[in-house]
Amino acid sequence: MSSLTLLYNEIAQCEKCGLSKTRTMVVPGEGPEDADVLFIGEAPGWHEDKQGRPFVGPAGKFLDELLAAAGFKRTDVYIGNVIKCRPPNNRDPLPPEISACKQWLDRQIEIISPRMIVTLGRYSMARYFPGKSISRIHGTAVKRDGIIYFAMYHPAAALHQFSLRKAIEEDMRKIPRLLEDTATGRISDLVREDRER
Ligand code: SF4
Repeated sequence: MSSLTLLYNEIAQCEKCGLSKTRTMVVPGEGPEDADVLFIGEAPGWHEDKQGRPFVGPAGKFLDELLAAAGFKRTDVYIGNVIKCRPPNNRDPLPPEISACKQWLDRQIEIISPRMIVTLGRYSMARYFPGKSISRIHGTAVKRDGIIYFAMYHPAAALHQFSLRKAIEEDMRKIPRLLEDTATGRISDLVREDRER
């Protein structure tokens, strides 16, 4: 059994926060164990909670389109969330829930060891770019300990606000170039080395 499958079995039993009482299914994430790119969204919604899979509702369909436009198949990349169980009525995740769920995402990242982590929306952005505003940093990347961190709007936000659609499409198209540069060891002009930490 793969390391990720073993981890999913553990996550399925998790009762570390109150969302375990209201979920239908845990949504651990999906994608190859050796994915180069790991996308991190916010939390499962209604469709995801029913199917146990991330990004399968309208925002997920849009994410699939964005990936295809950048030359990726959904099965090329890993897709997960900050929170693995749906908050009731799609409310925002609460700080204690994010903190209780952090260990699962940490372990996923450790197993997958991606070359690039893409944050979708403000909750995953806050993990890697604390105190920053998404409207200012979307489409920019930092390199930290050999990993490129890249911030994007959440596809659901772009679905509801047409003005963000162009921005999210343009940002997604930067990813192949960033990946190519990490492969060659070149630092793209889209990336700054992070010396703040
Ligand atoms: S949201 Fe995370 S911490 Fe809370 S019960 Fe689900 S898996 Fe566990």
